Amino acid sequence: KAKELGRNTFAFFQEDMQSLSDARLQMEKSLYRALKENEFEVYYQPQHNDKGEVIGAEALLRWNEPDRGFIPPMEFIPIAEDIGLIHELGRFVLLQTTLQVAGWYKQGLWQDNWRISINVSPMQFAYSNLLQDITDALANSGLSASMVDIEITETALMSDLERALEIMEQIRELGVSLSVDDFGTGYSSLKYLKDLPIDRLKIDQSFVRDLITDKNDYAIVLAVIAMANALSLKVLAEGVETEEHFKQLELMGCYTYQGYYFGRPCNATDFAQNFLKAGHTA
Ligand code: C2E
Ligand code: MG
Ligand code: MG
Ligand code: MG
Repeated sequence: KAKELGRNTFAFFQEDMQSLSDARLQMEKSLYRALKENEFEVYYQPQHNDKGEVIGAEALLRWNEPDRGFIPPMEFIPIAEDIGLIHELGRFVLLQTTLQVAGWYKQGLWQDNWRISINVSPMQFAYSNLLQDITDALANSGLSASMVDIEITETALMSDLERALEIMEQIRELGVSLSVDDFGTGYSSLKYLKDLPIDRLKIDQSFVRDLITDKNDYAIVLAVIAMANALSLKVLAEGVETEEHFKQLELMGCYTYQGYYFGRPCNATDFAQNFLKAGHTA
């Protein structure tokens, strides 16, 4: 009896593993198709200052899978990284986003001092010809480099500090700025804050969420803001969901924000409609 049960359990286990790897294989195949068939779309989420005015936006990739609907980036980006598709996908995001923002600029909807933030995977940072991809996107769109910000995570900086420094300096030479995304969730080495040409820290939303009630989150956010200010780095709070968050962050000396309180990511048409009317405030 026990033996039988054991065998069945193993059979189930095998079946589970099989369907798991089938699903994974299916996802990989779909990703290649998605790029060819234009199933990817860039969404935009506004970034705001303490007066509620728009100061720019972050480009966030969406995959509209014909059968499954929208698949979140947290699900498909890691797979795109595994199969090496992230490089082409990254180029798509750079080209598409700069073209869109250049279009808004030509229509007088995008202001000179706004920036579009574009996420770059650690894989792109380490192994792509990222500098060339950025240069191409700028040339192709005609967008000014001063309107572009590249978001990298701490993971991208960890492995090879020398190389990171070189790439970052080259990107900065173009006139493009650099933000550290999800700050505080990786290896928050203070050394790189000192040595690397970083313009801005984005405080991760996990610290902002319970800012009001959790004294440790409060302390961390306050310390990051103080450190950023002392190092002359800009600082933006992610995941600002309520007016309370916003007011508290302002009191703490953080004056730029991104989050559902100000606006959710939306497609280009909705973004222009909701956030790019001249002189829009929240
Ligand atoms: P991220 O770069 O930290 O982007 C912020 C994420 O927080 C976005 O999730 C955004 O929709 C979400 N968010 C914004 N405001 C709020 C809020 O008030 N509350 C909450 N709970 N969430 C908020 P999304 O769009 O699902 O993207 C997830 C992650 O996927 C991004 O995190 C980024 O790491 C990655 N990603 C997205 N687009 C790209 C891309 O084009 N390239 C690469 N390499 N990664 C991307
Ligand atoms: Mg980001
Ligand atoms: Mg982030
Ligand atoms: Mg994040």
